[in-house]
Amino acid sequence: MRELERWTSLLRSPYIMWNLLLRGRYGFSFDLMPVELTHMSWAQRVNLLRYALNLMYRRSYPWSLPLHMQVELTNYCNLRCPICPAGTRTLGREPAAIDAQLFERLLDEVGPTLLTLALFAWGEPLLHPQLATVLETAGKYVFLAHSFSEDSEPFSTVSAGPTIETS
Ligand code: SF4
Repeated sequence: MRELERWTSLLRSPYIMWNLLLRGRYGFSFDLMPVELTHMSWAQRVNLLRYALNLMYRRSYPWSLPLHMQVELTNYCNLRCPICPAGTRTLGREPAAIDAQLFERLLDEVGPTLLTLALFAWGEPLLHPQLATVLETAGKYVFLAHSFSEDSEPFSTVSAGPTIETS
């Protein structure tokens, strides 16, 4: 099966390269959601190529910056879902929210080459005290950011610059 996937990828690679380099388009699956990015910046295209080289040469020290990031905005929640360590208060960490300025510094560094950003881990991200500022910062850079409300539906999609097409 892996061999088949490898050959399929190899056969598709000229088409992927042509789409990426000349058209700035790249399709991938994000949390099982098919996404097609368009109008990618040159920084993003080059970073994606570097990422491919990491895979080809099995680099332990990657040449690329991250394509995807997951940030835990808060580690607390007002609900008590029994399956969740934030809900059962068993995370073993003091309740905290990421500092909005630290989040901005982080995105200033990797945002220009990032493709996706997930704004959740444990805790309820909607309870971040500076949520509007955080989302504004995310919206400056990333193609696609998502997080979840209590019913596990995506609550937000933030897009900036390039176009996102999902199907
Ligand atoms: S709503 Fe989400 S973060 Fe809050 S307790 Fe339930 S699963 Fe955990």
